[in-house]
Amino acid sequence: MKIKAAVTHSPDSLYVIEDIELDEPHNDEMLVRVIASGYCHTDELIRIQKLPVTLPAVLGHEGCGIVERVGADVKEFMAGDRVAFSFGSCGKCDRCLEGRPTLCVLFEKINFGGVQADGTSRLSQNGKILSTLFGQSSFAKYAVVNERNAVKVPDDIPLEITGPLGCGIQTGAGAVLNRLKPKPTSSIAIFGCGSVGLSAVMAAKISNCAIIIGVDQVPSRLQLAMELGATHVINTKETPDAVTEIRNLTEGLGADCSVDASGNATCTKMSLNCTRLGSPTVIVGGGGDVTLNMEMDIMGHAKSLIGVVEGDSNPKLFIPELIKHYREGRFPFDKLITYYDFDDINTAMSDSNSGKTIKAILRMEKPG
Ligand code: ZN
Repeated sequence: MKIKAAVTHSPDSLYVIEDIELDEPHNDEMLVRVIASGYCHTDELIRIQKLPVTLPAVLGHEGCGIVERVGADVKEFMAGDRVAFSFGSCGKCDRCLEGRPTLCVLFEKINFGGVQADGTSRLSQNGKILSTLFGQSSFAKYAVVNERNAVKVPDDIPLEITGPLGCGIQTGAGAVLNRLKPKPTSSIAIFGCGSVGLSAVMAAKISNCAIIIGVDQVPSRLQLAMELGATHVINTKETPDAVTEIRNLTEGLGADCSVDASGNATCTKMSLNCTRLGSPTVIVGGGGDVTLNMEMDIMGHAKSLIGVVEGDSNPKLFIPELIKHYREGRFPFDKLITYYDFDDINTAMSDSNSGKTIKAILRMEKPG
């Protein structure tokens, strides 16, 4: 079928909304009318080709929508279901069977390889194949997604807020709830207060951490961190030595754990140095090359630096858990959202890049 999609042609061009062809869903896939999609930093890294996905492509990987029709083998969903999308996984490998689909043997192929699990894309334009992203390509009016990528959204939850649960929000929340699992009364430092870091702040509050320290350079983000549960904030423009400040806030010991969601190499090193002896740091934002001294930064202090993808989440379990926290008022991630019309995707992109907007969500259809 012919659909409208935002096509990324080259790293130096803006998104262009154009007609493309979307193939019919295969047996384990379904056609979904996209209602909204988050705009994520990963989309931007691919657009400018700092992450290698072959262009031209249709990006977007925080989609949600309403199922139009399902393939013959789809058991979990039917037409009319409200769904949020997440990353893809094969469902059959040892890691998937262990409940850790972020480590799936096909993770790179399905999510960054430009194709669905069977090695083909459902997208084309004038006979030329377009890459798909995360098996969804949600910067479009319709998407073909595998049933494994989708999670049902309960009727009492606004559908349009749910797309980012499948990537940025579960990345930050999962870093804390799935990986660090901090003890109640413990202390945690979170570097970077964008959508990922602020989701970690909310998760730290859910975990009953006694001291939650948000670190950023933008006053409005730090203000929001306080509203969402941070007990202290540090503006590194005013206080560049966040490590000493965090020690001062934790009886001179350092934080019990930390999260680096900054995407900044200096912050990565501080996130490691601000913890107390024997403590873990989870890194969820790629900040490029960092120089570490193995004796002073890691081994000599018995520390660990842990890379985590997608919050180590099993989306079919973790997204419903986050929705429950949202419904019960413990996880107000809707406070991070600014809405844009689909036609304004390039404004959403520039506002996200500048930090003006924390979590942009594109609406494919006008509300109401
Ligand atoms: Zn797998």
